[in-house]
Amino acid sequence: MGSVATAVARAAACPPAYALPDPKRPRLSAIVSFSGATVTGSEHLVFTPDLPVSEVVLRLWAAAPRSARAGGGIDIATTKVDGRAVPSRRSSATVLRIPARVAAGRSVTVDVAFTLRLPTGINDRFGHRGTTAWFGSGLPLLAWERGRGWALEPATSAFAEASTSEAMELTSLTVRRARGLSIIATGVQVADDGTTARFRARSVRDVAVAVGRLRVAHAAAGDVPIVVGVAPGLADDPTATANALARAMRVHAARFGQFPFERLAVAVLPDIGGGIEYPAAILLGKGQTRDATASHEVAHEWWYGLIGDDQARDPWLDESFATYAEALDRGTGAAYERMVIPAGGRGRTGAPMTFWESRQSIYFRSVYIQGAVALLRARRAAGAAAFDDALRCHVRRNAHRITTPADLRLSLQALPAAIRVLTAAGALR
Ligand SMILES: [Zn+2]
Repeated sequence: MGSVATAVARAAACPPAYALPDPKRPRLSAIVSFSGATVTGSEHLVFTPDLPVSEVVLRLWAAAPRSARAGGGIDIATTKVDGRAVPSRRSSATVLRIPARVAAGRSVTVDVAFTLRLPTGINDRFGHRGTTAWFGSGLPLLAWERGRGWALEPATSAFAEASTSEAMELTSLTVRRARGLSIIATGVQVADDGTTARFRARSVRDVAVAVGRLRVAHAAAGDVPIVVGVAPGLADDPTATANALARAMRVHAARFGQFPFERLAVAVLPDIGGGIEYPAAILLGKGQTRDATASHEVAHEWWYGLIGDDQARDPWLDESFATYAEALDRGTGAAYERMVIPAGGRGRTGAPMTFWESRQSIYFRSVYIQGAVALLRARRAAGAAAFDDALRCHVRRNAHRITTPADLRLSLQALPAAIRVLTAAGALR
């Protein structure tokens, strides 16, 4: 049977549950120590490529334009392959190349020691203010896409992502901080002696950490615990925030499937406007439970966290879907359908971040809004029940993977009316 026939046969049956994570997925352990605006860290990766490689590529998102403009960055101290020191080279600010010849299916270990410099006062995933410090995508990120290779797309200067990474087993994340500071981090906390805490997670594609004199509250959505930490100086009530997040988790779980991670950890932080999604973690600005942002970020736990995408190549695959989920949850769809899509973005829902780099002022309306509206209209065209069923099966089929528009098209193949709407919006090609 050819690959297309195999794929069609696979798409025809709706799996009974989420696909399991790849047993050969990368394994990551890391240690980070917070001190003021500096984080010193090391990471140990076990990587089993499914294609032969001559190098390992790690993306250094701390050196992306937004952070760098405000003084943020990352210095690489040492790089090792299979325990031996190997000189690495930065072919651009965010691309670290480590020579390593590895056959497909063989494992290699990579060790990297680094220092992060956290900027102050910018709306970004890196920041530091007073005793509060945070990073997302701060660990040098294995930029592998199974079946495809290294994800080398340029960074974006927009409030957006251009990163791509497969789901990894976070075998151990050790976080050190001054006594008296709380930690919000990806995964389940398995130890804490007051200065050193350890977390782990079964299947996450990136990591976020915040420390500070946080006000902390707990809640649960079903049997999934939620922890919220609010930074000093912000008026947000941690308990009310945790409850608002739990509500959104229940709504999205009913639509797409069970919450995909062991826990949701959320830090409410200064200088962030809106929210920034990570698998099992969210960095949130102040006051975001008053509008649809919290629901949007929680929806990303499925659309990006569980169902990954190349965020540089196909940003709509997570942003349009999170906005669509938020619209169904919060009833904002009618308002979105009335919004005017700028001429420069009309019919271009599926364009990559390189297209939006010089058009940042129309990115939100052209991708978030246009894409969400197309999904709402596709749902009406196909029939809500059939469309919801098809998306639920899509999520199960593609759990813990990086998807493409072709994967979505395959999941919607029995709903040609939906495919027509998404094609007209330039989402599907
Ligand atoms: Zn989003």
